[in-house]
Amino acid sequence: MALPPEPINRGALNKTKERTMTRRGIIWLGQVCNLKCHFCYFTDRLSDTTHPEHGFMSLEKAKAICKTLVDFYGNNTIDIQGGEPTIWKPVYELVSYCKEIGLIPTVITNGQALADVGRVIRFKKAGIGDFLVSVQGLGPVYDHIVGRPGAHVRQMKALRNLQEVGVPFRINCVLTKDVLPQLHQIAELAITVGANVVNFITFNPFDDQRKKGKRTSENVATYKELGLHLNGVLDVLADNGVEANVRNLPLCVVNERHRPTVYNHQQIPFDLHENDFASWSWTGMQPQRMAGCNLTPPVKFGPKVWLGPSRTPFRWLGERPIVGPLLLGAKRKIDQFTGQHGSILRGKLTTEEMYRREARLRAHDQVGFRHVSACNACDLKLICDGFHADYDPFINEDAAQPVSVGFTVDDPKFYISQQLKVVYPADSCNIS
Ligand code: SF4
Repeated sequence: MALPPEPINRGALNKTKERTMTRRGIIWLGQVCNLKCHFCYFTDRLSDTTHPEHGFMSLEKAKAICKTLVDFYGNNTIDIQGGEPTIWKPVYELVSYCKEIGLIPTVITNGQALADVGRVIRFKKAGIGDFLVSVQGLGPVYDHIVGRPGAHVRQMKALRNLQEVGVPFRINCVLTKDVLPQLHQIAELAITVGANVVNFITFNPFDDQRKKGKRTSENVATYKELGLHLNGVLDVLADNGVEANVRNLPLCVVNERHRPTVYNHQQIPFDLHENDFASWSWTGMQPQRMAGCNLTPPVKFGPKVWLGPSRTPFRWLGERPIVGPLLLGAKRKIDQFTGQHGSILRGKLTTEEMYRREARLRAHDQVGFRHVSACNACDLKLICDGFHADYDPFINEDAAQPVSVGFTVDDPKFYISQQLKVVYPADSCNIS
């Protein structure tokens, strides 16, 4: 395994426990990539060159999306996603443009292209805020997971280049079964190379991963296995002052001391490095994710139901027409919810309540989380997404351990407000 050799000083970034709402937008440039990760949400779109989302969009379209994020949605930071954005030729120009209009840009990358130090220097000159590098394993395990020999060596070279050029970066790691034995090494790597943050993401059945047969007990770990590995790794990162976040994990899967790191849908709006549900609902629609189509008008965040990128009326050929039943299902849920929360009907919903309602709709109606029987005895049920319905037959519901804190927790920030989070310069306008 080739590791960057020089430990570096993590620098003097402030940390805070203040939780405010994210204003981070997101853009998907097109589904073209130089790797083939088997767990990728867009695996079919990447391999199917006729898919409308395959192929990068024009710079003009990308700029128009970014401008809308600022002017209509009030976003101040942005995640630039591909496919793989670093192989899109105009990416430097888009980074500069984002910075110019008040969107501090993060590029989400596998880092392969950044093994060329010249590219890192170009990104720095263009005004990159930071990179979010996907470290999905180490050594031959990584090469196997991403389907490309030599990819790990290139990624380590990229991390070294980022260190040497002085560009901040965070690390993402998807919790596939193969990577679990390497989590400690990945934590050590993050500490050594000076990553500011490590995000662990459960292997989710979103988008193209929704299809049956992609996720099996061969590649998806049980929740119990995740808990066993994560507790120790989160201790290591905490002991070394590295921020860690675990996304989409039932709260009871990790020890009490690590629950402040867990972000289910209701916690996501309070992480400044996660995406704003409002603008995400618009950029997630297919016309905003494909090259050959005009933009649709931005929509205000409110009583409108978000149907998700692959379930909008813009779904393309070859997919099942499920909009009708979904609309009815979503309407039923809203009716139930408005029955319980009259403030919506009276127009008194606060912004946080609106985002919370959206979070629940996304979790339970759009991406298929559900509470299992043990959740009924749990004090955290109102702030936890529960388990993936899709985890059958490897869901092992007995992993659910009802939590007792002595009262019903109804504040999504109950745990996360105890977490120290890194404050980037771009974040400072969001906190007091
Ligand atoms: S609600 Fe269910 S999944 Fe969530 S912490 Fe409680 S028992 Fe675990």
